[in-house]
Amino acid sequence: RRPYSDEVKRAQTQSVATPGPTIFDKILSREIPADIIYEDDLCLAFNDVAPQAPVHFLVIPKRRIPRLQDAEESDKEVIVYLLELLGHLMSVARALAAPRAPLGWRLVVNNGRAGAQSVYHLHLHVLGGGRWAGRPG
Ligand code: C5P
Repeated sequence: RRPYSDEVKRAQTQSVATPGPTIFDKILSREIPADIIYEDDLCLAFNDVAPQAPVHFLVIPKRRIPRLQDAEESDKEVIVYLLELLGHLMSVARALAAPRAPLGWRLVVNNGRAGAQSVYHLHLHVLGGGRWAGRPG
């Protein structure tokens, strides 16, 4: 059996998922600083404070959705809105990644304790830059 990665172990030591505010709400309200690279009505993007690649930024919705698995609804209109929001986050990630990591990049969403999620406010990780591709260049 392969050992768990450090990030999964780290996420499992965090408190369980709660619907309450997280540090990302404080970034959204400018209560704490972040290196913001993009903002619109629906989302905010900022460089990760502990980068794991030469380019590492996060795209987060302004609406608080704790995990990707929580982006579901029985109300048809709300689910259409959520699907459009998820598409928008991916589209913004792609647009921001293009000039920053022209050789390629990865899009990662950690979901839940066993999925290495530590901040319970949905976020897309964009990782890339230089020759980095998660393997020797
Ligand atoms: O997917 P996960 O929840 O583990 O990722 C949270 C990410 O948020 C981490 O990469 C962490 O470095 C980043 N973070 C940040 N600024 C903060 C707090 C966390 O960029 N103030």
